[in-house]
Amino acid sequence: TNRIERHHYDVVVIGAGGAGLRAAIEARLAGKKTAIISKSLFGKAHTVMAEGGAAAAMGNVNSRDNWQVHFRDTMRGGKFLNNFRMAELHAKESPQRIWELETYGALFDRTKDGKISQRNFGGHEYPRLAHVGDRTGLELIRTLQQKIVSLQQEDKAEFGSYDARIKVFAETTITELLLDGDKVAGAFGYYRESGEFILFEAPAVVLATGGVGRSYKVTSNSWEYTGDGHALALRAGATLINMEFLQFHPTGMVWPPSVKGILVTESVRGDGGILKNSDGKRFMFDYVPDVFRKQYADNEAEADRWYKDPDNNRRPPELLPRDEVARAINSEVKAGRGTPAGGVYLDIASRLPAEEIRRRLPSMYHQFKELADVDITKEPMEVGPTCHYVMGGVEVDPDSGAAYGTVRGLFAAGEVSGGMHGSNRLGGNSLSDLLVFGKRAGGHAASYADQLTSRPKVSIGAVEAAVETALAPLQRDTGENPYHLQQDLQAVMGDLVGIIRREGELADALVRLAELRERVAKVSAAGGRRYNPGWHLALDLRNMLVVSECTAKAALERQESRGGHTREDFPAMDPKWRMVNLVCALDGDTVRLTHKPLPKMRAELVALFDRAELAKYLTDEELADFDALAE
Ligand code: FAD
Repeated sequence: TNRIERHHYDVVVIGAGGAGLRAAIEARLAGKKTAIISKSLFGKAHTVMAEGGAAAAMGNVNSRDNWQVHFRDTMRGGKFLNNFRMAELHAKESPQRIWELETYGALFDRTKDGKISQRNFGGHEYPRLAHVGDRTGLELIRTLQQKIVSLQQEDKAEFGSYDARIKVFAETTITELLLDGDKVAGAFGYYRESGEFILFEAPAVVLATGGVGRSYKVTSNSWEYTGDGHALALRAGATLINMEFLQFHPTGMVWPPSVKGILVTESVRGDGGILKNSDGKRFMFDYVPDVFRKQYADNEAEADRWYKDPDNNRRPPELLPRDEVARAINSEVKAGRGTPAGGVYLDIASRLPAEEIRRRLPSMYHQFKELADVDITKEPMEVGPTCHYVMGGVEVDPDSGAAYGTVRGLFAAGEVSGGMHGSNRLGGNSLSDLLVFGKRAGGHAASYADQLTSRPKVSIGAVEAAVETALAPLQRDTGENPYHLQQDLQAVMGDLVGIIRREGELADALVRLAELRERVAKVSAAGGRRYNPGWHLALDLRNMLVVSECTAKAALERQESRGGHTREDFPAMDPKWRMVNLVCALDGDTVRLTHKPLPKMRAELVALFDRAELAKYLTDEELADFDALAE
């Protein structure tokens, strides 16, 4: 039967990670009737997997830290391609968002004098990551959920029902956004367990669906990260930017094969871990690029002193931004200096006492013990790059999170949005991003709903079309198996649109993606609607495909190397390309790419950098502007 359960809300938040929960809290605090929808179990999201911490310039461990330094580090990390306004808001508001979490009940690790402790991470000038051991994301999610429960208790007292103004729909996948003209009117999806359909009528939708990693075989991302939010946005008339920029985290597990890709937190390096090749050489000193030479040590003695005395020594090169470390590992393995399983060694055992390792990195200790039978207090880990994070995403207004393009009433926050991290994200900057922009998107979605004079209407035709699309894979007797299609997609993306890219291979990838698109249009899922993961994947595939096309197209177009986009045929950064955002839109079924100039950074923000540093990134024209201002 095609019975459809109907609900009415003011704000629908798709995604229950940090961004979604923070957005929902804000919408509910604004008095809006709010739904939270999550494809996975409630509480299971990428956010819960975050280990290292949340970056915020609170200055608790080094009082020299402040928002200006954080802003600078973020822009540097993103190689100046970031949306400066987002980087500015993020640097300014992160500390408040972290302190606010404590009012919700979070308890971060402490300094000796009782302040929130902060740890070192790649690309951050000062210790900046608020953390709870290596289980920070768990605390973040737990606290946000607790806040939601307390809001539900208030509603119970006032209205007699916990669900009066905020309700969670877990294990529910949204497959379609529904529009009334150019306005959002609702969202359509299904309960994963029963396969029954569900319709949300709502004038404002916040996308908080996270990333796209499942288009790659070796990834730290879990099953639900199929780029749904990116694809929903595109189909609704919104645009994506920066989709060529994917972060390959330098340290994923490489052995045993069944767990290949699972993350090894950067905290291992932040706390003293070093990388060695099969000759036992600490190789990162050979890979410090010119733009970072001033901040990074060129010898082991200085690098090792830095952990105790960071004011008088330069940082170890193991703590370079992630793109640099991932490329370095890739080069070592390619040059035949890899480990037996095809990675490099990450050694913390010889650097810290066993007890200290177990205290600081409890999850890592258990992860290696249980999955690889390796005791990291005694032996080195084997690690290699893994697809981790997408910098690209929904193009949004920096202040409100409202999606650009032709659609109204659509907002995006967290990993699904683009711009904030430029071409490369610094570790720890995602958890803070979720809180800062989740709150903003939730608040603005609420005020958008308030100012509408009439409610957009869901049309019967649109619902029927959504039902038809959803049921199609079940109704085809012939057609390919979704799992085979996903494997083929992963092979194309991993082999041809991976860490190191070349023109010929990217062009080839586009041809293969076009073929895959034909095959996916005919995908068939065996079985019925009750809990049927094959059917679910069949529906996810079209999202993965369109998002992969955006990535491959933009990667072919961008003729330079920057952050999470490395072109072997264009190995240098090109200041002219720094001024360009590649914008993806859907025209019917076709992915269209356009060039759009980056917003110009405000003068007082430009003035935070030395001229010598700016000269590494900006065009002569931009520098002339800078000089004119300085006079
Ligand atoms: P997520 O937390 O990914 O949540 C997305 C939600 O959307 C989920 O609830 C999912 O079920 C739901 N969803 C998706 N599609 C649909 C759909 N179609 N319908 C309904 N619901 C849907 N960042 C840091 O800053 N510091 C760290 O230490 C750190 N460590 C990390 C460790 C690991 C192993 C990983 C994988 C990432 C780490 N990151 C870290 C990155 C960070 O965790 C993520 O970028 C961030 O959590 C994304 O949050 P989000 O709220 O945008 O989305």
